[in-house]
Amino acid sequence: MHCKKCGEKLALRFCENEGLVPYCNKCEAFEFPQFAVAVSMVVTNRAQDKILLAKHVGDDDFILPAGYIKKGENVEKTIPRELKEELGLELVKSKYMASRYHSERDVLMINFIVIVEDKPLKLKTDEIAEAKWCSIEEAAETVKKDTIAEIFLFNALKEIKKKI
Ligand SMILES: [Zn+2]
Repeated sequence: MHCKKCGEKLALRFCENEGLVPYCNKCEAFEFPQFAVAVSMVVTNRAQDKILLAKHVGDDDFILPAGYIKKGENVEKTIPRELKEELGLELVKSKYMASRYHSERDVLMINFIVIVEDKPLKLKTDEIAEAKWCSIEEAAETVKKDTIAEIFLFNALKEIKKKI
């Protein structure tokens, strides 16, 4: 690993409460590891009796719609932007549920229950191959097993049954 500012090879240095952290001797500064942040959405209708699952281009399985938070953007903006861009949907209301770090992709996933207006889907076809509204039971059966999406969905379903 090299320093992003000056290109110097980074050393490891002890940082209080953090442990060993990459350090640039030239800049005399720690370089903390960076990672991406994304929203994951349990999309439901106003009646909260249906869940939208999506299949990404190149994938075989249905998961929850998700999207990266752009640099400088706040999460409140990411949700309506992703809904509109990828699915052609409009946000009514959202509720924060849980977050998990996805180590394979080096991304912190932040999960929300998202209520949308009932209107036809308009998919961004270069990203979303297929999306479908499922009953609660069907969504639980269809979502890809052993994924963060599955954990988020089951967690959110308990809340949706009570209505958010
Ligand atoms: Zn440096």
